[in-house]
Amino acid sequence: MLYQSTRDKNMVVRSAEAIKLGISPDGGLFVPQEKIRLSPASIVKLSGMNYCSRAVEILKLFLTDFTIDELRECVSKAYNKDKFETDSIAPVYKLNDQVYFLELWHGPTCAFKDMALQILPHLLTKSLSKTGEDKEVVILVATSGDTGKAALEGFKNVAGTRILVFYPDNGVSEIQKLQMITQEGENVGVCAVEGNFDDAQNGVKAIFTDAEYEKLLEKHNFRLSSANSINWGRLVPQIIYYFSAYCDLIKNEELTLEEKVNIVVPTGNFGNILAAYYAKEMGLPVNRLICASNENNVLTDFIRTGVYDRNRVFKTTLSPSMDILISSNLERLLFDITGRDDVRVKQWMQELKEKGRYEIPDITKQKLKDLFWAGYCDDEATMQTIKETEADYSYVIDTHTAVAKNVYDQYVKETGDYSKTIIASTASPFKFNHSVMTALVGPEEVEDKSEFQLLEMLAEKSGVRIPRALAELQGKPVLHNLKCKKEEMQQVVSNMLGIS
Ligand SMILES: *Cc1c(COP(=O)(O)O)cnc(C)c1O
Repeated sequence: MLYQSTRDKNMVVRSAEAIKLGISPDGGLFVPQEKIRLSPASIVKLSGMNYCSRAVEILKLFLTDFTIDELRECVSKAYNKDKFETDSIAPVYKLNDQVYFLELWHGPTCAFKDMALQILPHLLTKSLSKTGEDKEVVILVATSGDTGKAALEGFKNVAGTRILVFYPDNGVSEIQKLQMITQEGENVGVCAVEGNFDDAQNGVKAIFTDAEYEKLLEKHNFRLSSANSINWGRLVPQIIYYFSAYCDLIKNEELTLEEKVNIVVPTGNFGNILAAYYAKEMGLPVNRLICASNENNVLTDFIRTGVYDRNRVFKTTLSPSMDILISSNLERLLFDITGRDDVRVKQWMQELKEKGRYEIPDITKQKLKDLFWAGYCDDEATMQTIKETEADYSYVIDTHTAVAKNVYDQYVKETGDYSKTIIASTASPFKFNHSVMTALVGPEEVEDKSEFQLLEMLAEKSGVRIPRALAELQGKPVLHNLKCKKEEMQQVVSNMLGIS
């Protein structure tokens, strides 16, 4: 399997190179050159396997430069009992006869990004040796909260790598911040950036596309790479759990073979829902992909009207990991649904950069609408959904998952589609304890409680144990207190690497 750039079809690389580079030199994203289809019989076969074996079966289709043994090694280093607090890795929780939550947050940082970031470092270090790379790789991450910690945990003390995470000063929860500033590891750095997630992300992108700076790094034997969800090595592991969830439902006789399901995904950078789209394209029986946004509802408007317009006020919401106005992975979808029209994609991305806006033609709009349904909800509705779900089912969900649940309810109301539905549950409610407890017991009860008191209150209320990784945060020393302006990010990188 070869990979091509969304902005230049003739820019073609092997899977190991796509993972090593992270982003194509022309600014495009790497996508598989060929389509892969799984038959219903192979889905039945997957149903009889555990998560790790399912993972190897899916990954081997895409990562053809890796041997089966190498993939097995990567998978078992990532998805094991030390890292995940459940044997099934990504269990499905049955809410009622129609709705299932796919719990993607049993990993070391309590959010779905562990699903990809636990395995990426192993795929990356293997990719480096396969491509004869002798430079030390420097991972730069811009995070809206969950990616940063998940990347730090994934890469900490991995030989031949350094990792530096930038997070928006006022865009992450207290727990998320605490998780990052207490990060241990020989090769890690953490820095706050004045501004929002897009500022941090644009800063990182600017560093990546600065050819002069690349030369300077090369001279010091460093090579930049990305762990953001634009890296193919991030995206491909996310395809696994959609198959895995479907297989679990087949195994438990909740679904009949080939029965179509809806998949609902709380969406920010469009990575998680894009993986669901790829799963559908590979033959997973999916009816509708439902794209759920918070009040930063660029994607809702885009899917409904075909106009992508980021010229709007950025809002800080209770679901901060979805506070994004530029959903980078959308570029991959556009490439696919335009029949791989690299010239057009390149032009739209140019317009997005220059004017903050582009519009797709009617034929592409129609394709988008056939595949996706989109909706959004505000913070008040998010809180209401947490409260109602707990009241009706004694099941506590976090703010991001609540956005998905709310939008799904809107979808059913509007369409009357009662197909079985898998909702991606992307964070543990403990990670957003403040909002979740406020929703459940009201602001007065929460007002002057510490983070750790809130964790205990939530454990009591939900009857679920506090996740190991969060309980352990108490008493950890702060190891990182750097803060910089957007323009200073490159200097922070240089300082960490000890180059002037
Ligand atoms: C990152 C994140 C999302 C958004 O996922 P994308 O792949 O960026 O669309 C949703 N929920 C949580 C908890 C996240 O951490």
